[in-house]
Order: sequence, then C-alpha cells, then structure tokens
Amino acid sequence: MKNFDIEEVRKQFPVLDQKIYGRQLVYFDNAATTQKPLCVIERERDYYLNENCNIHRGVHYLSQMATEAYENARKTVATFVNARKSEEIVFTRGTTESLNLLATSLGQLLINKGDKVVVSAMEHHSNMVPWQQMLIREGGELLVIKMDENGVLDLNHYAELLKQRPKVVSIAHISNTLATVNPVKEMIRMAHEYDIPVIIDGAQSMAHQVIDVQDLDCDFYVFSGHKMYAPMGIGGLYGKMEWLEKMPPYQFGGEMVDKVSFEKTTFNKVPFKFEAGTPNVGAALGLETAVKFIQSLDRQEVERHEDMLLNYATEQLAKIDGIRFIGRAPRRNGLVSFLVDGIHPYDLGTIIDKMGVAVRTGHHCAEPVMTFFGIPGTVRASFAMYNTKEEIDIFIKAVEKATLMLR
Ligand code: PLP
Repeated sequence: MKNFDIEEVRKQFPVLDQKIYGRQLVYFDNAATTQKPLCVIERERDYYLNENCNIHRGVHYLSQMATEAYENARKTVATFVNARKSEEIVFTRGTTESLNLLATSLGQLLINKGDKVVVSAMEHHSNMVPWQQMLIREGGELLVIKMDENGVLDLNHYAELLKQRPKVVSIAHISNTLATVNPVKEMIRMAHEYDIPVIIDGAQSMAHQVIDVQDLDCDFYVFSGHKMYAPMGIGGLYGKMEWLEKMPPYQFGGEMVDKVSFEKTTFNKVPFKFEAGTPNVGAALGLETAVKFIQSLDRQEVERHEDMLLNYATEQLAKIDGIRFIGRAPRRNGLVSFLVDGIHPYDLGTIIDKMGVAVRTGHHCAEPVMTFFGIPGTVRASFAMYNTKEEIDIFIKAVEKATLMLR
C-alpha cells in the first residue's frame, strides 16, 4: 500500500541534512528547483557507470539497451500525465525549451501577419517572451488576459479576447509568483469553442498535482524535470498527436530526419521529428525514476501535507506587522509571495539566508507581474513534499528577526 512518511521521504534527500552558516538548512526555494532523491541521483550515476551510450543509432548491445531505457522513460512520463500514446511526449531541456519549440513551430504553422496569441498577465518570461518575439517577427499581436489585485485572472476579459479569434492560447497552470491555480480546464473549454489550441505551462504544477492531459483536454502541456525531483536538463512537452503531426520541426540535425540529400530532406516521425541531436539520456532516466518515486507515494497525502504547509506558513506570516501578500487568489498552491513594509525583499532574503533559510527574492522571471503591483520584487517561500511544519517555524522566526533588524 502507498503511504507518505515524511521522515522516510527526508532520508531520500541527503542534501537537506546540512548546516548553512552553522544553522540547519531550511530549503524553501523549491519553485526554482527541487532537491533530488537518492534514487534519482543513483539512476543517473548508474547510467554513466554501466549503460552510457548514444541511442537510436547503434546496432550494438549497449546502444540498444540505452534506446530501450530511454523509450521506456517516455512511456513512464506518458502514463504519468495520462497521454494517449507515449509518442505524444517529446523530451526537451525543460519548460523554456518546450515553449520555444511551440512558439517557433506553431508560429510557423499558424501565425501570419495580423494574427494574435493570448497569454495571461501572470506568465513567467518563458511563456511570454518566445510568443512576443515570434509575433514581432511575423507581424502579429500579443493579447494579455487581465488579472485583479488578488492575482485572479479576469475570465470575462478572456472571453472578450477569444472573440478576436487568436490562433493560440498559452497560460500557466500555477503562477510561480502568485501561487494562483488557474481554472485551466474551463479556460481550455472556452478556447475550444472557437477551435483555438491551448498550451498549459505546467512548470509549477507537475510536482504538486495529479495531471491528466486527457481530462484537461489541453492541446499541449509543458514541464521541467528539475522542478519535480528529476535532474536538470530534461523536461518535456505533451502534445496531441494531431497537432504534433502537423507541426514543422523546430531544430534540424541528426535523428530528426528520414532521408537526406543535398536537394531535399524528409523528416522522421513524431516524436523524433522534434528531438534533433543527442538527447540527455541520463537525465531522461532520472526523470523516469523521479516519476516512479512520486508514484510510489500516496499523492493525496502529499497534497494534503503540502496544503498544510502553505496554509500554516500563510497564517503565521499574517501575524507579522506590515506584511503584504502578493497573490491572494482563493486557490493557491505551493508557494507564498510577500513583502514587509519598508523592507527591500533582497535585504530580507539575504538576512534570513544567514540564518540557514533559503528563499528566493526578486521578480521571479515575471517582471510584468511586479510592474502590475508596482513593486521591485517579492520574497517567495516555496514548498516541497519534504518540508515540515518545524521548518516553517524556523522560517517565521527568521523573518521576524530580520524585520526587527531592518526596521
Ligand atoms: N514557467 C513557469 C511557471 C516557471 O515557474 C518556470 C521556472 O521557474 C518556467 C516556466 C521556466 O522553467 P525552466 O527554467 O525549467 O525552463
């Protein structure tokens, strides 16, 4: 039977068991990257110790084994997000590369002069700049769904934007600055009424929520392995087969081709058409192991635990004099962003770091969000399954102390 034993889970993450400036580390920068469990580290190490080989091209034993392992990793990820077929998973370096792939390839397929793409006011730069730059090249226009002071998207405005018949909608599932969980299923349904494809940026959701791409009915779902306990340098893109088949390749080179001559090149089938060059095989196997690690736990319990951490942290922070929360949507997940009156977030972050507490400060790659709230940045504490209530107590004491020092 699956369970969730926090002590056992923490043993899987030896990096947590260390002192920073003589204090026990409290790692609350999980939205930037999660730590990796031993099983993931060992899987990657084992690959390089015993299995390392280039894939898809070799007739020899090791190459065939590595190819099989890599394709099995694809199957595991496909099952994890409930894709119809494993070929609907394209391995990339992560969310950023997946979104660049989509902006380039869908851009070529769908966007002509005067066409529009919809994003939201709370996007990470990765889900905004690639579209913006593509639209500058093509002579199109970026439409932005408004949000309110709580960090909730205005669905009436979204409905109005859809009437302008944009060619693509691309939105975050969970905001990395505001923690807002967007009603993506409803937003996908609304766009589909106009036959507009929808991309969901799942960078902040894969580690926290069960993702079912068929239930969401999204056309694309993108994610980063390193934010879900897997190594850096691997991530993916789920795409409905009918779209992936129509889309042109994004990069050219080995592996993505079928027949090549100086006159003409034909391309490999999906997903290989989108995987030019040698992929990060070791990291893909690490991603598969991370997925199996998550699947081995009681996910409802994990969600409950993470919700408890977020609620407790928010309640305790609310007691601090001069606290201002940035992001107060009714549905939030994974993180809390805040400011303390009269204190620069950078100063607060730097001081609590000296107390062993790792948080992120700044604009979190979402400068338009900071501009909207008229602030230089926030302090962001983001949680993972291995964090504890006791760690939140340490964090709160550190913030209180820093606040006294900086006032
Ligand atoms: N989208 C969101 C919502 C994110 O939080 C991040 C990273 O923080 C990204 C995209 C980019 O992810 P990566 O840097 O792993 O490509």
